[in-house]
Amino acid sequence: MTVRIEEMTWVEYADRIGKGGVVVFVPVGSLEQHGPHLPMHCDEVIPRALSESVAKQIDGIVTPSIAFGYKSQPRSGGGNHLPGTISVDAEVVIGQVRDVIFELARHGVRQIVMMDGHYENTMFITEGIDLALRWLRFDGVKDMKVLRIGYYEFTSEETIRKVWPDGFPGWPLEHAGVMETSVMLHLHPELVHMDRLPRHPPASLPPYDVFPVTAENWPGLPKSGALNSAAGATAEKGAILYTEYVEGIRRAVCTEFRLRGTS
Ligand code: ZN
Ligand code: MN
Repeated sequence: MTVRIEEMTWVEYADRIGKGGVVVFVPVGSLEQHGPHLPMHCDEVIPRALSESVAKQIDGIVTPSIAFGYKSQPRSGGGNHLPGTISVDAEVVIGQVRDVIFELARHGVRQIVMMDGHYENTMFITEGIDLALRWLRFDGVKDMKVLRIGYYEFTSEETIRKVWPDGFPGWPLEHAGVMETSVMLHLHPELVHMDRLPRHPPASLPPYDVFPVTAENWPGLPKSGALNSAAGATAEKGAILYTEYVEGIRRAVCTEFRLRGTS
């Protein structure tokens, strides 16, 4: 049985929602350059895969992704200036999150997970959720509950020691780094080009932002688009990370929505 809403008929979908208690996952990503070795949909394809893996275990449903994200920032995404990156304004992210929640609410859904794969989206997803809940309350809908999940936050200390034995560089520098490259080797090895890995040292960037983002204003920004080398990435590490994310997210969703299988 499919978990993808777009593969169901409306009758099948309405039947499943009608039974109550269904969790609907909305992947939120970006189309963003990820260095010379990764495809540009990493931030979308990873949260989508995770949503589907968890949904299969709990009879959940996954919507198509909100596939364009907020503008890539130099210190967390290598910058918005490279070809291929297609970003949208904050109000577009906020509006899509808000409207998708409104529509799901209209169908009778009351349990939603916004599954984010693009760091720069974080607060705009939060804002979309907040606006939706405020308006739904005005409309008399008081039982909607929404989780916002950044999947990489489910990485345990133990896994960090395994995946980065020489020290964890921090999530911002991990853009197109070991985590995303490993998870992509696990999910879509045919789209990863290990022979084109950038070999430069971690980007050395100031603890502040400079606008406009130009090569002159950001001399420490690597031209590769990656912020660090992903030389330590392997499919085995990807499997460890992916398994931990699925299990951690499943447990969080079961706890928050009081589903069976919480332990
Ligand atoms: Zn990414
Ligand atoms: Mn990103």
